[in-house]
Amino acid sequence: RIVYLNGAFLPFEEARLPIMERGFLFADGIYEVSAVLDGRLVDNAAHLARLDRSLAEIGIANPYDAGEWERLETELVARNALSEGLVYMQVTRGVHERDFAFPPADTAPTVVMFTQAKNVSRNPLAEKGAAVVTVEDLRWKRRDIKSVALLAQVLAKQAAAEAGVAEAWMHEDGFVTEGSSSTAFIITGDGEIVTRPLSTALLPGITRAAVLRLAEEAGLRLSERPFSVEEAKGAQEAFYTSASSFVMPVVSIDGRTLGDGRPGPLTRRLRDLYLEMARAS
Ligand code: PLP
Repeated sequence: RIVYLNGAFLPFEEARLPIMERGFLFADGIYEVSAVLDGRLVDNAAHLARLDRSLAEIGIANPYDAGEWERLETELVARNALSEGLVYMQVTRGVHERDFAFPPADTAPTVVMFTQAKNVSRNPLAEKGAAVVTVEDLRWKRRDIKSVALLAQVLAKQAAAEAGVAEAWMHEDGFVTEGSSSTAFIITGDGEIVTRPLSTALLPGITRAAVLRLAEEAGLRLSERPFSVEEAKGAQEAFYTSASSFVMPVVSIDGRTLGDGRPGPLTRRLRDLYLEMARAS
């Protein structure tokens, strides 16, 4: 397994970082995840644009332009002979004696990339549909930044794991914000596809944007509005989206079955449309 660290492609075992790395000490950094399908990166320009924005929001200079990022990702995918899975990219503020405020401006950020093999397109869970549980959203107020500070999501995903389900949907003031690592959607009884509008309360999902675009092109009814946990439990269909799950049907929420308990027809159509788009990217 070959990984990327600060300019070099290395065997996984040889990639080491000092304990004064600020990602390790403060979670002072951001990350991105792109899917790989048929050996090619999916919707990667949008992921690199979000990476650039996340860095700008926390005052880290982007070490590479989009062309260089894509070149490095492509080389990593090739070196690992990855045909399907994920590329993980992380940029943290670098190594310096521990102090909360930023280190000197000439401190080099730490850049890490690795791949993970994963069956994203033929995931058996997508055939069956996922169950989700709801948990309180315990995160900070800038969830639009893809920060590596993920403790609240770790706890949410652990709650899901302990409940024996795949994902946790987080809520705040009675309304669903998003999944622990995905964007939440519901479909109402009259066929309206609903997802929360973008704000600092949630991450601007790249898969979310693609699904909204595809739904619009297909002439489906869309509404970007907040929806409550109660409304979600009474929805006709539901699904969540992410680079690692594409469009994942949800068949129950907190033990309440949606529809007939199987992935709904509109959700399946959106998954197919997304897969078609992903294969063409
Ligand atoms: N929301 C959160 C909190 C996430 O962590 C993720 C992905 O990891 C998403 C949404 C989905 O974003 P994307 O579709 O860009 O993968």
